[in-house]
Amino acid sequence: VTIRPFFGGTHPPDCKEGTAGRAVRPGPLPDRIVLPMSQHLGAPCHPLVAKGDRVLRGQVVGDVEAFISAPVHSPVAGEVTDVGPVLTPGGVRAMAVTIAPDAEQDLATWVHVGAPRDDIRATVRAAGIVGLGGAAFPTAVKLNPPKQFAIDTVVINGCECEPYLTCDHRTMLERAADVIAGAGLIASAVGAGSVFIGVEDNKPDAIEALRSATNGAEVEIVVLKTHYPQGAEKQLIWAVTGRAVPRGQLPSAVGVLVHNVGTAVAIAEAVELRKPLMERVVTIAGAVQEPSNFRALIGTPIEALVEAAGGLRSDVGRVISGGPMTGIALASLDVPVVKGTSGVVALTEGESAPVVDGDQPCIRCGRCVEACPMTLHPFAIASHADRRMWNGVERFNALDCIECGCCSYVCPTRRPLVQLIKLGKAALMAKGVKQ
Ligand code: SF4
Ligand code: SF4
Repeated sequence: VTIRPFFGGTHPPDCKEGTAGRAVRPGPLPDRIVLPMSQHLGAPCHPLVAKGDRVLRGQVVGDVEAFISAPVHSPVAGEVTDVGPVLTPGGVRAMAVTIAPDAEQDLATWVHVGAPRDDIRATVRAAGIVGLGGAAFPTAVKLNPPKQFAIDTVVINGCECEPYLTCDHRTMLERAADVIAGAGLIASAVGAGSVFIGVEDNKPDAIEALRSATNGAEVEIVVLKTHYPQGAEKQLIWAVTGRAVPRGQLPSAVGVLVHNVGTAVAIAEAVELRKPLMERVVTIAGAVQEPSNFRALIGTPIEALVEAAGGLRSDVGRVISGGPMTGIALASLDVPVVKGTSGVVALTEGESAPVVDGDQPCIRCGRCVEACPMTLHPFAIASHADRRMWNGVERFNALDCIECGCCSYVCPTRRPLVQLIKLGKAALMAKGVKQ
């Protein structure tokens, strides 16, 4: 086990036992597929189809000519029933294409990705691949790092440090060879000589599966201490390579690219099978009748996936898209699975933090400072944000916050720290402040 601890962090109960042993099974074919045109960071796509059009599985239904973007594909054959705004898991309304799937689907075929097979970047762009760890940053852009930085190392992120989520764990167990193949493709796209896969030591079976699948490939499996947020980019790079990414810089500044294990599999499928990103593994965990991992069609209403997991239990308090540390509470289950949906976690009333306002007193205990892996002063940023004092928010380096949620988790008075910090960050970004 690599012992290169990062500053701060915390150790929430991992609560993964409900789904870690559940093999990925096919998700349901819902009665409608809802495809928001903005499922990635960057410019939203424009719909390329109209109400009444027939579409094929794998057909591009949205795209835009912008560098930071990724096209959207239909995961089903069917008929477009609507083009208009819908509610997304992020709580905002976005333009979307809604499709009524044909009753009979051939999920073994699709419209092939139309890019040269030997051009990995172009294939990844055309396949609509984004970071599947949750950030949804367009992968082709990541494969095009600034020219002044030579990338010598690729780190595949298999930490999955968020409680409850096991989609990456199952992917490493069930698709180990594809994870390794995708890692090799990423390395060859950027000319990197070293490839590592970082996995926390609470997943010994995944470590074993990856080791047996390396099969002579020059990939090193690095076992990391289980500690939240080990899967955050800068913390992972430090643990695996000993390189510290400077403040305000991207991993490429230290010659490293990080990609999630699910993204590596999607890249392998795009290059080898010419398959666009139309499905992803989604963990449905917590207070549901039958916690599960599904290979869900992107655009499946979350309600349909929760139903396929037997439905919510009666003691549910709050349902979260993503994990409980960084996820977003859902106002409605009538929102679609998007490319960044790693899981849906139903928390019981006892587990759900009470909804508090900004007036909970800070008792200056310092725990949030000790827990912050970015060495920030969360209480100070939050109190300035609470008073709309944006200069103070900037002075305390709010834009360095990776929104890991450690500060909120450890705060004894349950101050809504990360929510206030996000508010402050959004205000700074709206003012054009750069890191
Ligand atoms: S301030 Fe940001 S980076 Fe620091 S603990 Fe809070 S959420 Fe995490
Ligand atoms: S953990 Fe909470 S109470 Fe303690 S210093 Fe931070 S904000 Fe204040």
